[in-house]
Amino acid sequence: MKYNRCGKSGLLLPQISLGLWHNFGSVDDFENAQSIAKEAFDKGITHFDLANNYGPVPGSAETNFGKILKNNFQGNLRDEIVISTKAGYTMWEGPYGDWGSRKYLLSSLDQSLKRMDLDYVDIFYSHRFDPETPLEETMMALDYAVRSGKALYAGISNYNPEKTKEAAAILKQLGTPCLIHQVKYSMFVRTPEEGLLDVLGEKEIGCIAFSPLAQGLLTDKYLRGIPKDSRAAKPNSFLKSEDVSEERIHKIKALNQIALERNQSLAQMALAWVLKDNRITSVLIGASSTKQLNNNIDSLQNLEFSTAELNLIESILK
Ligand code: NDP
Repeated sequence: MKYNRCGKSGLLLPQISLGLWHNFGSVDDFENAQSIAKEAFDKGITHFDLANNYGPVPGSAETNFGKILKNNFQGNLRDEIVISTKAGYTMWEGPYGDWGSRKYLLSSLDQSLKRMDLDYVDIFYSHRFDPETPLEETMMALDYAVRSGKALYAGISNYNPEKTKEAAAILKQLGTPCLIHQVKYSMFVRTPEEGLLDVLGEKEIGCIAFSPLAQGLLTDKYLRGIPKDSRAAKPNSFLKSEDVSEERIHKIKALNQIALERNQSLAQMALAWVLKDNRITSVLIGASSTKQLNNNIDSLQNLEFSTAELNLIESILK
C-alpha cells in the first residue's frame, strides 16, 4: 500500500480506504464483514470510514465495527488505524437527530463513540451542509469535537465549492484546520471537476472520493444483467435497478473493453482513473467480499494512463 499526505496535514492515508456504508450492518453476515475488515488491514488499508447512520439498521455498522475492533484490533493496533465517522443525515426522530446543529453533531459523536467503544475517532465529519444552521455553529461543533479530544481531525462532506471555502475559512480561524473533504467522484459522477477539486487543491485540503465504482456499476458485475446478490437487486438500496439502464450497460461494456486491454478489471481501471488526479488523497471503496477487496487493491499495480486511453474513456463517457 502507498500512503498519501492528506492535504497539507501531518496525516497519511492509504490510497485505498474501506467504507462501511454497506455490508457491515445488522442485516449482513458478521463473519463476512469481519473477514473484509481484517483482510483490508492486512493489505495496508489503515483507514475505515463510518457514519452514525450506516447499517441498516442505522448505527449497526458502528456497533459491528466496535465488535470487529474488540476481536481483532486490541492494544496498540488502535494507533495503526484511522477511523472516521460523521453526522448530518437523519439519525433519530425529533428535532435533534438531523442536519448540522451543535446539539445534533456533538450528541451523535458521543453515541458513535459508545457504539464503537472508542475514546476518540480520528476524523469527525459534518456529513452535509445545513442551509438552516449558521455555518459557524456547525464548524464550532467540529472544532469542539477536536478540542475535547473526541476527534483528532475535522472534515466536511458533500459541501459545494463555495461552502467548502467558507467552512475552511471558519475552521482555520478557530484553529482547527479542515483536514479533508469527502466527495462522490467516479467516471460516472464528475461534479467535483466543476470547481470543488480546484478549491481543495488551492486550500491544500485532502480529498477522499466515495463511491468510486459508482456503487458497483463500474465493475464487471452488471455486464450480464442484475445478479441476485448485487446492491441493485437489494430492497431499500440507493442503487436502483433503473440505474442499470441500457445506455449505462453500453458504456460499461465499452469501458470494460479498455480495462481488458490494460490487463485490468473494470473496477481496477475505475479506481486508477480517480487516483490519477493528484488532489485525490484516497479512493473510498465498498466491498461485499474479500475477493472484491483484493481485486480492488490490485488496481494499484497499474495506475498509469496513456493520453490515447484517457481520450477514449472521455469519448465513451460523453
Ligand atoms: P463503491 O463505488 O466502491 O461500491 C462498492 C460496491 O461495488 C460493493 O459493495 C460491490 O457491490 C461492488 N464492488 C466492489 N468491488 C468490486 C469488484 N472488484 N468487482 C465487482 N463488484 C465490486 O463504493 P460505495 O458506494 O460502497 O461507497 C464506499 C464508501 O463511501 C461507503 O462505505 C462510505 O464509507 C462512503 N460513502 C460516503 C457518502 C457520503 O455522503 N459521505 C455516501 C456514500 C458512501 P455488491 O454489494 O453489489 O457486490
